[in-house]
Amino acid sequence: VRMAEDTEKLCEGLRKENKSCFILGASGETGKELLKEIIKNRIFSKVTIIGRRKLTFEDEAYKDVIQEVVDFEKLDEYSSAFQGHDVGFCCLGTTKAKSGEAGFIRVDRDYVLKSAQLAKAGGCTHFNLESSKGANKCSSFLYLRVKGEVEAAIEQLDFDRYTIFRPAVLMCDREEYRLAERIFQKVLIPISYTFPTAFSVPLTTVVRAMVNNAVLNSDKKVEILENKAIHALGAAQEITKK
Ligand code: NDP
Repeated sequence: VRMAEDTEKLCEGLRKENKSCFILGASGETGKELLKEIIKNRIFSKVTIIGRRKLTFEDEAYKDVIQEVVDFEKLDEYSSAFQGHDVGFCCLGTTKAKSGEAGFIRVDRDYVLKSAQLAKAGGCTHFNLESSKGANKCSSFLYLRVKGEVEAAIEQLDFDRYTIFRPAVLMCDREEYRLAERIFQKVLIPISYTFPTAFSVPLTTVVRAMVNNAVLNSDKKVEILENKAIHALGAAQEITKK
């Protein structure tokens, strides 16, 4: 109970600061859960989602969410959408299977980097990037290389605070059907009981880690949270141990 109280205290602290945030990719699996968690905790006084299409929400709780619909190919024309947010969360991404190699690079590197640049110019002080386990700009695997490249390019932007999340396979019930991911998840379920932090992470843990991290004050300019750290931070009761 005490731990829960501490978490609540931290949330209360952030609420008093009247901060605003934006989420990129709020229609995706992670972004959707993150938006829900942020609304539930009421930690930001203004929540903006930036995406390529307008979303509809049935729930009353979403009524104050501001939506900015942008054309990611012409992001410079939408710089106002990125103005005045204190904290930014980027959960944008596609796959090579869905968009081809060039499309994947365009979204996961170019759109993400351009968004980060506009956010920085717009006054964002804490940028959060959902990257991936194994991200490495020297990797020979396209996916891991692109993730590593975008991580490094954003670091150059010099945000006051920059947090990189490197989750392993996200365990979730994805709306969109991805056969390979389904098979992978099935294989990982028994393994995840034995080695819970090695190869996978529940999606809810990732978003809790993002929220918990945002409410904590940190003097670290750049933080890289590997899968194990995400597991630890995403368990709400661990919040005071960081
Ligand atoms: P989803 O695929 O569920 O969602 C992706 C988001 O990006 C959606 O909001 C989607 O918008 C948006 N998007 C995709 N393509 C475009 C485009 N061309 N233009 C504009 N917006 C676009 O993502 P996940 O939650 O699965 O993953 C989020 C991030 O985490 C990704 O970067 C991924 O690489 C990374 N990651 C994922 C893992 C996993 O196991 N799934 C593991 C580790 C890291 P729209 O709804 O309009 O398509």
